[in-house]
Amino acid sequence: MMHNLTANILSVCYLIGSISFIIGLKMLAHPDTARRGNQVSAAGMAIAIIATLILYQSDGMHLHNYAWIAGALVIGAVIGTVAARKVKMTAMPELVSIFNGMGGLCAALISIIEFSRLVPASPMLHILIIIAGLVIGSVSFSGSMVAYGKLSGKVKDHAFSWQRSFNLILLTVVLLLGALLIRGGLPVSATYIFYTLLVLSVSYGIMFVLPIGGADMPVVISLLNACTGIATACGGFLYNNPVMLTGGILVGSAGMILTIIMCKAMNRSLLNVLAGSFGATASNVVSGKEEAHKEISLSDAATAMAYAKKVMIVPGYGLAVAQAQNTCHELEKLLQEKGVEVKYAIHPVAGRMPGHMNVLLAEANVSYDLLLDMDQSNAEFPTTDIALILGANDVVNPAAEDDPKSPIYGMKILDVSFSKMVIVNKRTMKPGYAGIQNQLFSQPNTSMLFGDAKDILQKLITEIKAL
Ligand code: NDP
Repeated sequence: MMHNLTANILSVCYLIGSISFIIGLKMLAHPDTARRGNQVSAAGMAIAIIATLILYQSDGMHLHNYAWIAGALVIGAVIGTVAARKVKMTAMPELVSIFNGMGGLCAALISIIEFSRLVPASPMLHILIIIAGLVIGSVSFSGSMVAYGKLSGKVKDHAFSWQRSFNLILLTVVLLLGALLIRGGLPVSATYIFYTLLVLSVSYGIMFVLPIGGADMPVVISLLNACTGIATACGGFLYNNPVMLTGGILVGSAGMILTIIMCKAMNRSLLNVLAGSFGATASNVVSGKEEAHKEISLSDAATAMAYAKKVMIVPGYGLAVAQAQNTCHELEKLLQEKGVEVKYAIHPVAGRMPGHMNVLLAEANVSYDLLLDMDQSNAEFPTTDIALILGANDVVNPAAEDDPKSPIYGMKILDVSFSKMVIVNKRTMKPGYAGIQNQLFSQPNTSMLFGDAKDILQKLITEIKAL
């Protein structure tokens, strides 16, 4: 009787946890509610964890090993809190990659433990879920670690000529071994095959992320994110835990939708992502000679903007590096006071993580209504007087449209050159993430405004106020 009551209370707690995830995810879709959405989801997770610790029973026994659990919780919470508080906004993608990798590792560890508890009568579905969790979790772990290394500049792109075929063969061997394990009746010990599968899956994760170069990392990051979600859902299925299952399915499906959106934005196919072959690596890209360019003075730029009808701001990674989002918002308000229409053109892969620019501008309280997505922006550039590019480079590089040899060829870009005038702010003529020169800088209607974005924006504000 008592046992039934606690089991029912636990189920209700899991239901609350699951519903909190769904509501939280919905709230994450808008900057105004995103922070609260995160809190709602975290509260749901806290309820589920506490309820499990207190109420969970198996064969009439509560959880034990409380000291180990508490120790792990404290260590994890301290590391997570310190890392999240200390991390710079520009290093956020690296942190997200590590967290994502840890999720994959947990899922793989669950599969390893559960494999050791298999009995001859274990149902095939159970074995299938264990194998899926192992493969997807370990690919996600090793792939995320390499992604972390690449985003932080510690790991360089590596590729060899037959990498695509190698990766596809490796993936096929992984799938075949997995299928053999599930089918049973193997000539060698299942444990031996299981650990071979683990090693091959880890290797595949490394090999498919390592060559991804050019500007294609965002697709891989969202795919790895989806993998962690699916691997977690496998764990939820094994433990018959609805919260883990719901959380995993939500992350997996949201990550998959994002991957498809990113693939569309980059004009790539999912098979190319899985083969880890797309986008020539930065190391084998010929940077080309530095483009000829002309410069504009601060006062000329300020005057042009103050008397423009419409200014489109194009934010990129450099704006995040300079932490100039608040100053940018200040310029926007100042121009609006002068009767200038100001909007922002947001490229889906601008910055270093999906939604980077949206988060950055939301931090400065820029109205969400002013943010245009790529298609909306491209429709408005022909009626724009000035496109003000702040620390963006690859996402406005015409090589994506004109140069079939370019590693970013095929990617959709913001067509800023349709504006009457283009002002590009960056510090030097160095290339962006993809490591390639940008011919936009030498086009007749483009002028360079060199300097740190924050410093330049502050000076522009002073100049415009003085007009
Ligand atoms: P880029 O990396 O192409 O260019 C950023 C530019 O900012 C650089 O050319 C740099 O030039 C300039 N910059 C750096 N610091 C400053 C500063 N303090 N002030 C002014 N300018 C500065 O950025 P984009 O946003 O255009 O493109 C993003 C790239 O990153 C794409 O290739 C994308 O695929 C890739 N990527 C995106 C991810 C995502 O999920 N969004 C994830 C991983 C990669 P200089 O040094 O001369 O100042």
